[in-house]
Amino acid sequence: MSAPSCSKGRNDVALVVTLDEERASHFKLREFENPDGLVMVHRSMLESLERVRRDLCAMMRENVWVFVTDGVRTQADLKRLATRLGWEDEGGVVARRSKHLAEFGGIAVDLVATIARTRERIPQQILGMACRRYFDWVKDDYADGHVHADNRDRAK
Ligand SMILES: [Zn+2]
Repeated sequence: MSAPSCSKGRNDVALVVTLDEERASHFKLREFENPDGLVMVHRSMLESLERVRRDLCAMMRENVWVFVTDGVRTQADLKRLATRLGWEDEGGVVARRSKHLAEFGGIAVDLVATIARTRERIPQQILGMACRRYFDWVKDDYADGHVHADNRDRAK
């Protein structure tokens, strides 16, 4: 997703949440934007994400990078994705009522994680397990190794 050079500062804003009275800020707004730079982030999603990262760092006893591979989507984004990956009700992986849609309030995120020092990918099942502690709903069997997580219940 390449942003035009004129929009260098676009969504280049650090997001901050408080976890157990400690400030956590490891994500930027731009990581959650769609290809057009539109973005929506639900606070509960960001909190869950920071908790997942904190747990992974504790588990690995070193710094772990959590990468957001997809955040909010418009209907047009969804259609483009379905052209590539297929709709769920037709045997693909894209849900027609995807929780990534803006109407749900920025509650969904796709992510991968790597150990910072070695660039080694954290296995999908381990990332999925960490996400299940802090997100309402997690899917961790995608062929490309990413994990989907959303807060469909707590954001209601
Ligand atoms: Zn997803």
